[in-house]
Amino acid sequence: MQKLKCLLCGMNLNENNYEVNKYALISSNMKNDIIYCPFCGASSIYFSETEEVYTVNPKELSENVLTILDHAVKLEVFNGDFYSEASKLAKNFEVKNMFRDLSKIEYVHAKIHKRLGGFKDFPTLTKINYGSYNSDEKLLKLASQREEHAVAYYSKYMKAVNNEVLSKIFKALSEVEKTHIKLTLSSI
Ligand SMILES: [Zn+2]
Repeated sequence: MQKLKCLLCGMNLNENNYEVNKYALISSNMKNDIIYCPFCGASSIYFSETEEVYTVNPKELSENVLTILDHAVKLEVFNGDFYSEASKLAKNFEVKNMFRDLSKIEYVHAKIHKRLGGFKDFPTLTKINYGSYNSDEKLLKLASQREEHAVAYYSKYMKAVNNEVLSKIFKALSEVEKTHIKLTLSSI
């Protein structure tokens, strides 16, 4: 297999990791046909054997753009935390696994923004008690709303970041979150 890299999260993709987070991918990867990055969920149009990982110099970004990236980190950590809790609360085995894998993917998105913005630490957000979401259906509906919000966020700021690389990343991530909407709604 050739050396394939995801330009969004920077992970090398190969026969040892193509099945990672498989419950959070809308179509299954195969050993010789990796269609989604198992780590960040990006589609194969963002894979390359030669290109460098998408990057920006945080020192060249305006305060406004750094704030957009800071909020993007928080949004993804918030959703990652939610999925982590939801995975504990879910009753159905498949839903549980899907939430667990979605959580890992959202944290990778947070890591991407953290790298882009040159931020030192991950934020620690206030813990939310999701105990009142006492059925898988309620958790899945909340999940799809969270994903809708993420898509709206990326769409809103795609142009405002005024940077070709960042726009490309926001677009790619909004596409990933759209697959999460489909995934969560189709599990209800
Ligand atoms: Zn990736």
